[in-house]
Amino acid sequence: MRITPLQASYNQYGRTNILPKKQEKETNSGEKTKEIGTNLLADYSYNRLMVNTSPNFKNNIEKSMLTLVKQIPLSERLADAFSFMKQGDLLITGKDLKISQKAMLECLGRLKNVIKRAFFIEEDNFQGNLAFFKKSYEEVEIINTNPDRMFITTDGQTYFMDSHDSFYVIPGDKLKYNDSELEIKKEPKMNLSIHRPFYVKAFNFEQDSQAVIERQNKKILKEIYTDKKAVPKVMFKDVAGQDEAVRMLKESILYPLRKPKAYENVDLSHGFILTGPPGTGKTYAANALKNEANINAKYINGLELESKWVGESEGNWRKLFQEAIDNQPYMLFIDEFDAVARARGGTDQYGDKVVNQILTLMTDIEESKYDIFVLAATNHFDALDPAIKRSGRFGVHIPFKLPDLEGTGKIFDVHAKNKPISDDFDKDSIIKRMHELKCSGADIKRLINDAYLQGYKRAGIIEKLDNNTITDADLDEFQILTEDFNAAIDAFANSKCSKRKPIGFNK
Ligand code: ADP
Repeated sequence: MRITPLQASYNQYGRTNILPKKQEKETNSGEKTKEIGTNLLADYSYNRLMVNTSPNFKNNIEKSMLTLVKQIPLSERLADAFSFMKQGDLLITGKDLKISQKAMLECLGRLKNVIKRAFFIEEDNFQGNLAFFKKSYEEVEIINTNPDRMFITTDGQTYFMDSHDSFYVIPGDKLKYNDSELEIKKEPKMNLSIHRPFYVKAFNFEQDSQAVIERQNKKILKEIYTDKKAVPKVMFKDVAGQDEAVRMLKESILYPLRKPKAYENVDLSHGFILTGPPGTGKTYAANALKNEANINAKYINGLELESKWVGESEGNWRKLFQEAIDNQPYMLFIDEFDAVARARGGTDQYGDKVVNQILTLMTDIEESKYDIFVLAATNHFDALDPAIKRSGRFGVHIPFKLPDLEGTGKIFDVHAKNKPISDDFDKDSIIKRMHELKCSGADIKRLINDAYLQGYKRAGIIEKLDNNTITDADLDEFQILTEDFNAAIDAFANSKCSKRKPIGFNK
C-alpha cells in the first residue's frame, strides 16, 4: 500500500500524541505495529502525519528524502541549481560538507569576489569535490578544489586544471576527475524545484558574515568611487558609427544642459538605458557626453557594487544619489546595470530591495526635476526588471549596435590616427575582414594595437629591444604594414573560435 513508509516512520518513532486517546492506550499495550498500522489508514491520522513536527521525525523524513533525491543524477541537480544561482553564489558538492568546505577554504584566499551565498549538494558518486562560482550574469566558473588535476572538455577540446585553477563552464562541457565524469547541462529534464530543500543545503553569508563584509566594503568603497574610466577627453566626434545613439544623447541631455531656457516647458527624461553588445562604445559615449557638457560625473560598475556592497547596498545607493543632488548638474554612469537591476520576484530578496531602492530614487529625481542624468549600460537588456525600464525611471533606451562596414572604417580612422601606418596599406580589405568578423569598436581598437606589435616583431624591433640595440632611427623608420594587420586579425579570429581560455584565480 502506498502509505507504508509513513506507517513505518510512525511505528519507529512512536508519535502517539497525534492519535486519539483510545488508540494511544493500545499503542502502549503491546502489538504496536499492527494496531497503529491499521489506525493510520484513518484520514485524521494521515493528515496529521503529514505535518508532524517532531525533530526526530523531520530528520528522518529529510534523511529519506535525501536518499531519494540522491537517485536523481548529479548533472540534473546541478542544472536545477544553476537556474536559481545568482551572481556571488558559490555551490559546492562532495561526499561530506566538512571535507568540501575545507577544500574550498584552501582556495578561498585567491577568490577576489565576495561570496554572498553558499550552497552544498551532497553527492557520493563523484570522486572529489566540485565548486562552482557564479561570477556574473552569465558566467559560471568551476574551481578545482581537489588536490589532483581535473579535466574539462569543451567544444571537443580538453583542457586540464591543476589544483586551485578555475575555468568557465558552459552547458555541454564535460568534467572529469579521476574516474568520475560529469556533463554540465543547461536545464534539468524535470522540474526539481520542490526537491530543492532536500538536495541542497543553503548558507547565507550575508547574515553570517556581516562584520567581515562591512570591513571589506569600507576598504573598497574608495576604489569604486574613483572616476577611473572617465579620464581621457573623448568627444562626440570620436564616437564613430553610432550616429543614432549620439544624436539621442545630444538631444535628450547635452542640449538641455547647454540651453536650459529652451527646455523650461519640456518634461525631460532623467534615466537612460544604453543597450548593446560589449565594446560598442556605451561607456565611451557617456564619457564624451560628460566632456561635452562639462558636468560632474561618476562612473560606477554594477558588478563591482553587487559583490562589494553586500548588506549595505540600499544605504550606499542613497548616498550616491545624494551626492548627485548636491553636485548638480550631474551624470551618473552605471555600467553592467543588469547586475543590480535584475527582474524581481526570484529567490533574491536582497536584490529585490536594491531594485526597489533604485526605483524610489529615480522617481524622486523625476518628480523633483533635478539636473541629474542617470545613464545605465547593459549587455542584457532582457534581464532588467520591467519596472526599471518604464518611462519615468529609465524610460529612454539608446541602442548601440555592432558597426556596419562604413562605421567600421570610421572607428578605424579614429583609432589609427597618429599611428605609423604605411601609405600603401590595403585599408579596404582590412576593414572588410574586421567587419566580417563582427568586430566591435573595442575589437577594432585592439586590432590596431595588435598590428602595431606584430609589426614590431616583423621589423625586429622586439629583438633589438631584447638585446638593447634599439635606436631612435629604428623607431622613426618603422611602419605598420597590411601583413601586420592580417597577422593580428588571424590571431583574433582564432581566439574568437576557441571562445574561452582557461583562467585561474592566480592567472
Ligand atoms: P561598452 O561600454 O559598450 O562595453 P566601451 O565604450 O567601453 O564599450 O568601448 C571600449 C573602447 O572601445 C572605447 O574606450 C573605445 O576606445 C573603443 N570604442 C568602442 N566603440 C567605439 C566607437 N563607436 N567609436 C570609437 N571607439 C570605440
